[in-house]
Amino acid sequence: MQAHDGMYIDGAWRPAASSEKLEVINPADGSVIATVPAGGEEDVAAAVRAARAAFPGWAATPPAERAALLGALHEALEARREEIAETVTAELGSPLAFSKAVHAAVPVAVCGSYAKLAAEYPFEEEIGNSRVFHEPVGVVGAITPWNYPLHQIVAKVAPAFAAGCTVVLKPAEDTPLVAQLFAEAVHEVGLPAGVFNLVTGLGPVAGQALAGHEDVDLVSFTGSTAVGRQIGAAAGGSVKRVALELGGKSANVILPGADLAKAVKKGVANVMANSGQTCSAWTRMLVDSEHYDEAVRMAAEAVGKYLPGDPKDETTRIGPVVNAKQHARVTGFIAKGVEEGATLAAGGPGAPEGYEDGCYVRPTILSDVTPEMTVAQEEIFGPVLSILKYEDVEDAVRIANDSVYGLAGAVWAKDEDEAVAFARRLETGQVDINGGRFNPLAPFGGYKQSGVGRELGRHGLGEYLHTKSLQF
Ligand code: NAD
Repeated sequence: MQAHDGMYIDGAWRPAASSEKLEVINPADGSVIATVPAGGEEDVAAAVRAARAAFPGWAATPPAERAALLGALHEALEARREEIAETVTAELGSPLAFSKAVHAAVPVAVCGSYAKLAAEYPFEEEIGNSRVFHEPVGVVGAITPWNYPLHQIVAKVAPAFAAGCTVVLKPAEDTPLVAQLFAEAVHEVGLPAGVFNLVTGLGPVAGQALAGHEDVDLVSFTGSTAVGRQIGAAAGGSVKRVALELGGKSANVILPGADLAKAVKKGVANVMANSGQTCSAWTRMLVDSEHYDEAVRMAAEAVGKYLPGDPKDETTRIGPVVNAKQHARVTGFIAKGVEEGATLAAGGPGAPEGYEDGCYVRPTILSDVTPEMTVAQEEIFGPVLSILKYEDVEDAVRIANDSVYGLAGAVWAKDEDEAVAFARRLETGQVDINGGRFNPLAPFGGYKQSGVGRELGRHGLGEYLHTKSLQF
């Protein structure tokens, strides 16, 4: 695949400080599809300098002009939808149909939502005898993961632009190509030089340099809780603002009386999407003891439709996981589940037949899972669903909240009010009621160790703003 052999800094593609490279690997077959430069401290420093220099001008640009540029960026991304989908399929291994419907479509929608919000947001308001100004925080260091690679970039960069911040992006090492495509779109619409900068490279090298840079005002990180903790600690030391979107172990609670067949089918689909590599995935299904066996049977049947295949084939529903390390991790969790007493209702730790070479994992359903088991507590980040049994509603609330995470979740009930009342008791940032539908304006983010701050909509924009009040 085409790749830029440089960093996008101060409005142009520039050579990296060192000649080190990162290989981009297609996880479906292990082939090297491109190389990109492995940036380091010097590249990050150059990018931060450019972002700092561009900040005063961009911050002073009227919101309507920033909105117009975001509108143009939305159109530039829209025009690249096919290319975005093909790129994400190649570097992440996501099935093409899913890449088109989600990896390409969602960022376009989110960028569009910020073009609108930038024009409408009350950057100035009156409160009693005060005038309150919402001013851009400054230079943003954005560090993103590979699982929804373009969405996670746009969910940070678009609100940062809307707010008047400038950005240095360090995308995940597994998926730098779609980040380069994004930089091309930024370049095409003519954003002022230095407003957006891209440094590809390794997390502990380029990522760490960016997170620790003293001239970065805000670090917005999406990724694992382990790295988020380090970034939070480093940011605390230099009193930087920090936004963290971390892991999850979300509960999908099916209350007695709910449409069991629909809830189980949607629950399985939710976990299998993107090979289970979704931070908000409903990886713990909670079913009452009376309906438990039936739910397990239905889940095992539903998962049978997720036959592994070539991600480039439009009919494929499940591809590989992102890399060999994740493959080992996910299959290790499945084996651990069995070792601790869970039952394999479908799948297992071995490779799917005929797919021994790529990073494929068998879509797996674990039943007889109890709350203290590793597979009920730790984020697996693969196509693995754990099904747990509860006795009554109090028990369901207790099990659902028995997690260090609190990112998302789902509640299914016959009566919507009953589902809402249950959802209000969950320690989690977002809950889908009887299926729900994605809303690009709804705040997304975690309780507990799932993170700090919110993304999307006006709550996401607020993360990139300081508040100043003038009293009269
Ligand atoms: P990761 O934490 O290893 O990497 C995320 C990003 O951080 C990458 O760009 C990486 O290069 C960088 N990084 C790694 N070490 C770093 C360091 N020491 N300093 C600075 N940057 C560093 O996570 P991952 O494996 O890429 O992604 C999977 C994880 O992300 C899962 O746990 C998942 O739940 C989480 N995630 C959360 C959300 C959310 O919105 N809450 C979304 C997607 C993924």
